[in-house]
Amino acid sequence: MAKRDYYEVLGVAKNAGDDELKKAYRKLAMKYHPDRNPDSKDAEDKFKEVKEAYEMLSDPAKREAYDRFGHAGVDPNAGFAGGAGARGGGGFADVFGDIFGDIFGGQRGGGGRSNVYRGADLRYAMEVTLEQAAAGHATEIRVPSWESCGTCGGSGAKPGTKPKTCQTCGGQGAVRVQQGFFSIQQTCPTCHGSGKVIPDPCTDCDGVGRVKKTKTLEVKIPAGIDDGMRIRSAGNGEPGLNGGPPGDLYVEIRVKEHPVFQRDGDDLHCEVPIGITTATLGGTVQIPTLSGRAEIELPEGTQSGKQFRLRGKGIKGVRSSYPGDLYAHVVIETPVRLTDRQKQLLRELDASLKDPKHSPQTKGWMDRVKDFFQ
Ligand SMILES: [Zn+2]
Ligand SMILES: [Zn+2]
Repeated sequence: MAKRDYYEVLGVAKNAGDDELKKAYRKLAMKYHPDRNPDSKDAEDKFKEVKEAYEMLSDPAKREAYDRFGHAGVDPNAGFAGGAGARGGGGFADVFGDIFGDIFGGQRGGGGRSNVYRGADLRYAMEVTLEQAAAGHATEIRVPSWESCGTCGGSGAKPGTKPKTCQTCGGQGAVRVQQGFFSIQQTCPTCHGSGKVIPDPCTDCDGVGRVKKTKTLEVKIPAGIDDGMRIRSAGNGEPGLNGGPPGDLYVEIRVKEHPVFQRDGDDLHCEVPIGITTATLGGTVQIPTLSGRAEIELPEGTQSGKQFRLRGKGIKGVRSSYPGDLYAHVVIETPVRLTDRQKQLLRELDASLKDPKHSPQTKGWMDRVKDFFQ
């Protein structure tokens, strides 16, 4: 089933602001919530769809990636491949937490549940040449990261001030709310569960306690990697929240087009133009390979389209035991811009080639089309 556009799912315009997104999400999440639609598979699917759309569009980085690349830019399942993170599974409990936090003014999680979240995965598109893909390649990339804010030492409070114990919950992070006969414990709406408030936020990090930086990572691309493959760098994604594990970094490989070779799995293909004289009389032709030049012997009477295989001159794939082969495809080049003298010589030659034995292909072809032209 094709994935629906996230904006369409939430029923908002492409330029919808955060409040509008949140409102649309809340309305739909309430409507399709499994508690309200027991045993409805359709509602469950809708609920998941709405949840995913909101998760993507409410994250500025993911939203930007989605706006630029569509669903290909954001893969909500990417993070789940490597086992269960705190967010793994994406069940209802999670979104229930989200809604709760939302209703009570929280920013993330809430509802008395744990505020521990696994960090988001990062994607990095890397272009390499065919040579680099074949031989392997070590390089450095710069990716966003977060560091503890140096100004406030990570506390989020302006230097000289301190976070204060939350008055609403007395530092407990949760409050009890009377609902009819029941008293329910919920995340504190003032401190969102941390038990602390920052009266004077640090201006460098806006009270978050950490700042965005870039870090340099070394990436080793294994020999034989192919277009579209990706390398996972565990733990180098965004940091988790409140002690949650970090996400992973995925480096996606794009192999640039090569001026000479086309790759097909482990095999390489290239075209080799030869003149009519070499094609007719045979001769030695030089062939480029990824490991230098090679020579092939063309026999007398080589026809256009003939291919020569150079065993083992292809690429050894990441999971292959042997390298593939290189196929050289002969293309016979018709001479152009001839002088009168050269044309005359060709006509003389042509006159000497009238016997059909010199042109077996033409003769065979003539015999076959004769029936059509009768
Ligand atoms: Zn700070
Ligand atoms: Zn509180």
